[in-house]
Amino acid sequence: MSELLEFTDLRARLNCDEVGRQMYDLAAGLFPICRSITGDGLRQTLKVIQRHIPIEIHEVPSGTIVFDWTVPNEWNIRDAWIADRSGSRIIDFRQNNLHVVNYSVPIRKRLGLEELKAHVHTMPDHPHWIPYRTSYYRENWGFCMAHAEAAQLADTEYDVCIDSTLQPGHLNYGEYFLAGDSTDEVLLSCHACHPSLANDNLSGIALMTLLAQHLQQIRRRYSYRFLFIPGTIGSITWLARNEALVDRIRAGLVVACVGDRGPFHYKKSRRGDAEIDRVATYCLTSGSKPSRILEFSPYGYDERQYCSPGFNLPVGSLTRTPHGKFPEYHSSADNLDYIQPLHLGSSFEMYLRVLGTLEANRCYVNRFPKAEPQLGKRGLYRQMGGLPDAGAREMAMLWLLNLSDGTHDLLEIAERSDVPFDTLESTAKLLVEHGLLA
Ligand code: ZN
Repeated sequence: MSELLEFTDLRARLNCDEVGRQMYDLAAGLFPICRSITGDGLRQTLKVIQRHIPIEIHEVPSGTIVFDWTVPNEWNIRDAWIADRSGSRIIDFRQNNLHVVNYSVPIRKRLGLEELKAHVHTMPDHPHWIPYRTSYYRENWGFCMAHAEAAQLADTEYDVCIDSTLQPGHLNYGEYFLAGDSTDEVLLSCHACHPSLANDNLSGIALMTLLAQHLQQIRRRYSYRFLFIPGTIGSITWLARNEALVDRIRAGLVVACVGDRGPFHYKKSRRGDAEIDRVATYCLTSGSKPSRILEFSPYGYDERQYCSPGFNLPVGSLTRTPHGKFPEYHSSADNLDYIQPLHLGSSFEMYLRVLGTLEANRCYVNRFPKAEPQLGKRGLYRQMGGLPDAGAREMAMLWLLNLSDGTHDLLEIAERSDVPFDTLESTAKLLVEHGLLA
């Protein structure tokens, strides 16, 4: 049996550039697939993830009631186009799957420009980009195209075809549970339902997949649950089917938009003061790079469901530029050029830092609380001699011994002392080895 690494070893050995490249390759492989909240594209995506980590692919029938929602019919699409009278395709789904409004019902008809335009979506502010639009819960059909091309459509007749099906089937999601020493869980969740969009979707899938791979190799204090789900309906469905185990969720992160160059953003859970909120805030703000901490709001990704009042789970969201805040969001410009291995790798590193801090954060108890214990006779002064950071190490010991009364966790000691969390973590281990902390 191979030895499990410690979390700190994993962080020390990590080659972020290499991980970033692996994440990028996974995203690039998934990019062409036309995903949706149900259907073959989502299943195919989950099967690709399954080649990397052993996720279980769940299947929930259309029509299943999940709280106030109903699992919709399954949508699949083979082809779609707008053709001129000569039969040549002006818009071709096979060229770009964003050209069709996701969940469009089947249609085949000849129509005039006026009627066609009522079903065509564009982005006038970015005339060369194709927008991404959906119509999951209202039967409709439509096309998306570059505004500049739509403006050139002649006033004539067109043939439109959407060769799709919307029929009873299933909703799928992927789940991977990685047991730790404790049954307390860390939930990691990403949506997996967007078609060819890179940052908003594929970057999150790639990060979670690589994270699961790496966390397999280490000794874990917490159990980890990874969810690859269709946005909104997927988290609602998972919550409806797993209500009994949500009390185990000690912390959670919704993963998305981690491949762009923007600064890190952490959006707090609805609670605002959950441990994950404190940990993520510390990790983002104690580094040298700019970052922003956002208060909870009931909009965004699946944190909306996890943080609904009936659950109120300690789940925040860690992204780079948040959803909707980059111009490329939900358009053909959110492509494989928009994400970079460098940024993916550094996002991965930040996730490891946050999770490593969460794993290490705990309350210790000073076993010699009456006056200071004599460090010299235990060899702790000698051990410090000559070390370049001996002063910092000594201060870390004094802070730990003073505040470790079972009510202050390492994070609070880091905040009060200005001693880096990682120094406190390694020093606490040393004091435990010497019987001074328990
Ligand atoms: Zn989106």
